[in-house]
Amino acid sequence: MKNAIFSFFCFLVLLCECSCARNLPKVYPVVSEASPTITYDVLTPAPMSLPAAAPFPRRRPLIVIDPGHGGKDFGTEAPTATIFKEKNLNLITAKILDGYLKQMGFRTIMTRTTDTFISLDARANLANESQADLFVSLHYNSAPSSQAEGIEVFFYRTDGDKERVASSKKLAESVLRYVIDLTEAKSRGVKHGDLAVIRKTKMPAVLVEGGFMTNNQEMTKLGDPSYIKSIAWGVARGIQVYYNQTRGVPFRSAQSPLEKPLNIKI
Ligand SMILES: [Zn+2]
Repeated sequence: MKNAIFSFFCFLVLLCECSCARNLPKVYPVVSEASPTITYDVLTPAPMSLPAAAPFPRRRPLIVIDPGHGGKDFGTEAPTATIFKEKNLNLITAKILDGYLKQMGFRTIMTRTTDTFISLDARANLANESQADLFVSLHYNSAPSSQAEGIEVFFYRTDGDKERVASSKKLAESVLRYVIDLTEAKSRGVKHGDLAVIRKTKMPAVLVEGGFMTNNQEMTKLGDPSYIKSIAWGVARGIQVYYNQTRGVPFRSAQSPLEKPLNIKI
């Protein structure tokens, strides 16, 4: 009898082990890593109540930065240092300005980011079609006299859109003020210029001539990356102050270029 009970007990243990082995596979199933497609049905209300969303922040202003010339259009050239072509200096300045404006919280679009030819119409169209808030074209100057020096900022004057003219002039004054403050270059003032990119754009627009490549002393300064950064920083500060004064839109201040240099290869 004892043997019979022991045998029955052993049978039960074996049965249990066998069935447990069947129910607990030794190899865990492979879970597919492909994420399932989730389709959001905008007409179906959310399954649970969600906290009220914060009001969408005001659209950040969009600045179109236009590095003058490019590609087959070299712009001016430094007679003593032919490696310096205006188109390249414009692009370098634009890239630095782009970095500063983004630090300040602006959105930016550059009309070109490489050494490519872009027509004047295409530059203005880009700004108009993207509904930019401001347009800034960057150039360096030349003159028959090697004595000509200094920085000037152009805006377009017309009887057609007085509000845009007034805003462009104000922007030009603000940009020039800060560029001169930072570079200590000679100011040639704010001027009216019948220039295609600032004539064909519909928003406040300025064209900065950041110094004469035909002036040896000024060209020496333009060959120094920290001087180019000062120009770019001045333009950025001028834009920021213009915005704060005219639109009442406070932007956080970026650090000064000396405190936080941008790593841009020149
Ligand atoms: Zn130019």
